[in-house]
This record gives sequence, C-alpha cells and structure tokens, in this order.
Amino acid sequence: MRLIILFNYLPFILILLLMRILTLGSETLREKSAPVKNIDGETNKLLTGMFEILDKHGGVGLAAIQVGLPLRLFITKIGNDTQRVFINPSIIETSEELTGYEEGCLSLPGIWGNIMRPKMIRVQAWNEKGKPFTMDADGILARVIQHEYDHLGGALFIDKLSEGKREQLLKKYEKLKKSKK
Ligand SMILES: [Zn+2]
Repeated sequence: MRLIILFNYLPFILILLLMRILTLGSETLREKSAPVKNIDGETNKLLTGMFEILDKHGGVGLAAIQVGLPLRLFITKIGNDTQRVFINPSIIETSEELTGYEEGCLSLPGIWGNIMRPKMIRVQAWNEKGKPFTMDADGILARVIQHEYDHLGGALFIDKLSEGKREQLLKKYEKLKKSKK
C-alpha cells in the first residue's frame, strides 16, 4: 500500500520507521507531486520526520516525494543555515546569470554531476505554520531550492546532463549499487 494512504492511519512512530529515501528506479520519484491541501498537525509530523531523515543522511535538502509522498513540499538545511520549509512553492523569478556546481542527490547516492542553474531566484511558498512568504535566494541555497523544486515535477538532476554524461554517471551508479550488495 502506498505510504500516503497509510499516513492517515498509522501512528507517527510507525510512519518514521516506514519512511525510506526512494532511489533511482522507483517510479514514484518520477511522479508529479500534488498540492498540499491543509497545513496542519499531520503536515508538521511529516516535516519532523523529513528533517530527521535529512539529518541522518547528512543531506542539505529533501522533497516529500523522495520519501514516497507525492506532495508539493520540500525542506532545506544547509550547514549552519536555519531549517527551511517550502510548501506549495513557486519559483517566480530566476536570474539570467547561471552558475555551475557539482550536484548530488540523496536519491542517487554516490554520483555527482556539474549542473548549470540560475544563480539567484525568487520563490513564493507557505511555511509550516501555513503562512505565505516570498524570499530571494542566492548561491547554494538558490541551488538547493531549485534542485528540490525539480523533484516536485518528477525531475532529477541527471535529466539536465548531456546524454553521454548521463550514461557515464548511470553506469557508475549501477556499479556502486552492485558493489554494495
Ligand atoms: Zn534530489
């Protein structure tokens, strides 16, 4: 049964135990997420669980779809930066200036690719209290927001690479996966 259905019935502790980061090959990761209808206690439980998983894996951002819940929300926690929550986000402006960076993803462990993205963005979203906000982001935060935002549409960073580069990385990924078994 899908985790999203169970989410309404199970105690939070069980949800946490069931929460796993989906990796490449999972069809769910390619789904388009649906808007969050109510920002309530359940949403906050989910966010708490997501921050725990993010912390455990040492990541900087996580979208709900990566733990099997196709909802338009993601979180970020970059170094000493505060924990940030983006619910039903829209990126409403992007700078013309682009920058490149070696990007990774908790759903594609062990591989990184140089991805070009707008350097600065303006994003509109709701926070965990249900309050709307607009913020400008630059540098690594702008990058992580764009990366997580892509997950809501079912996109992964490897989609942005040239076919040759993508195949090379996927080969490496498969090799790593086999060596872990
Ligand atoms: Zn990712």
